[in-house]
Amino acid sequence: MAYGLTDIVQQRRMIDESNGADAFKRVSIRKLDALVGLAETANCRRTRLLGYFGETPNSARCGNCDNCLSPPRVRDGKVIAQKLLSCAYRTGQRFGAMHLIDVLVGRMTDRVKQFGHDKLSVFGVGRELNETQWRAALRQLVAMGHLAPDSEAFGALKFTETSRGVLKGETEVMLREETAGSRVRASRTRSRRGDLAPRPTGAGQPADATLLASLRAWRSEVARQRGMPAYVVLHDTTIDGIATARPTTLSQLRDIPGIGDKKLEHYGEDLLKLVAAARPSG
Ligand SMILES: [Zn+2]
Repeated sequence: MAYGLTDIVQQRRMIDESNGADAFKRVSIRKLDALVGLAETANCRRTRLLGYFGETPNSARCGNCDNCLSPPRVRDGKVIAQKLLSCAYRTGQRFGAMHLIDVLVGRMTDRVKQFGHDKLSVFGVGRELNETQWRAALRQLVAMGHLAPDSEAFGALKFTETSRGVLKGETEVMLREETAGSRVRASRTRSRRGDLAPRPTGAGQPADATLLASLRAWRSEVARQRGMPAYVVLHDTTIDGIATARPTTLSQLRDIPGIGDKKLEHYGEDLLKLVAAARPSG
């Protein structure tokens, strides 16, 4: 995912601080929540989107979106969710993602020492996941509405009405397993903190020649069909960008320079299919 919890907090703050009427702000927050939910869902995105617009989809899966084409692996996230919620609770619901993760993985930061959080029972109980995985789990819990970042309290993660059910183990929580999609994020995290994040394998690699060829062939075909020059369909640098980044989701694709909303809408699914088809082994 090409965004983090801080982005959500910022967007919320911008809405809160805008001059709009309260009703408008509520609608904006709801839209933002829907967008985050769409980004984090492990289920069909199209049916989720239809549901948001009040339409009833014909089937549970469209068979065409990235989640349908390469379904993310999900696992039972009950214990992970309980650890996160318990950590947020025991630290007073006053801290953001970074500190909660520090406590869970048992990292002795100045802040941990300052607040005596190394004395808490949750200190170091989350060593089974690395930082990237914890961040992904947190984003999903927020997307599911089991935790809410408070933009007025600098993104402190607070309980919602559903938090207690999860904490007690009464609510099922399925979490996506972190896949290739987390690589960009992982490399960024690593540059900030030298130790914990996994070694990124996708970033920094040269463009995949097979993928480049298939992207170019696809572009010629589209250009022919639409009667427009190839560079209008997609620029060479954009084609190179796709072959290098190998995006697996629409939001990753959107991050590549030259891909705007229009191009994402027209070509997004096709491009993701091409990338998926040319996936290198291993
Ligand atoms: Zn779908």
